Amino acid sequence: MKLIFATHNDHKLNEVRSILGEKNSISGLKEVGCFESINETGNTLKENSLLKAKLVHEKFNTNCFSEDTGLEVEAIGNKPGVLSARFAGDDRNSEKNIEKLLSLLENKKNRNARFRTVVTLVYENKFYFVEGKVNGVILNKKRGINGFGYDPVFCPTGFDKSFGEISAIHKNMISHRSIAFIKLKKLIQKF
Ligand code: IMP
Repeated sequence: MKLIFATHNDHKLNEVRSILGEKNSISGLKEVGCFESINETGNTLKENSLLKAKLVHEKFNTNCFSEDTGLEVEAIGNKPGVLSARFAGDDRNSEKNIEKLLSLLENKKNRNARFRTVVTLVYENKFYFVEGKVNGVILNKKRGINGFGYDPVFCPTGFDKSFGEISAIHKNMISHRSIAFIKLKKLIQKF
């Protein structure tokens, strides 16, 4: 199946291509000549995911999908959620985001958190949603240098290492995003 993935991020594009396999031809936004940035103005991951898919569908009138991901931390009302990238300000600085998160969690016993990814597929003008989640806890300090974003302070349930301490290959086997993309693969196999 031919699909546009509503992302400018080459890392995500490669990840999804390796999961969806060669039977599916996936183009990123740059490859279809779309360089405009999409304002993520939704209040939920689902709203943001949907608005990106809608925009690309309206612009190109073709089957497409999008994703939105956030870190949800129980003790602070599931924040940062949709604000994950800009938690400490508009400059999307992961160091500052982590600092802010750890300071809000100081003295909090409940460290439960999860990464959640919502994927929206537009196929033949109909909308479909799939979701991937990974539960875990927020550590007291950073561990490891791999990955990006909140990886060094997130320890997935059942592991004694943070996402920052495991390899990209290993993370891709268990991550929220790969769970969501595997569900997307199963969904499109039905069409
Ligand atoms: P996006 O929607 O995938 O761009 O994710 C928004 C923000 O959530 C990113 O800027 C990161 O701060 C955070 N994030 C998303 N996925 C991950 C992940 O796999 N590890 C760590 N942080 C992530």
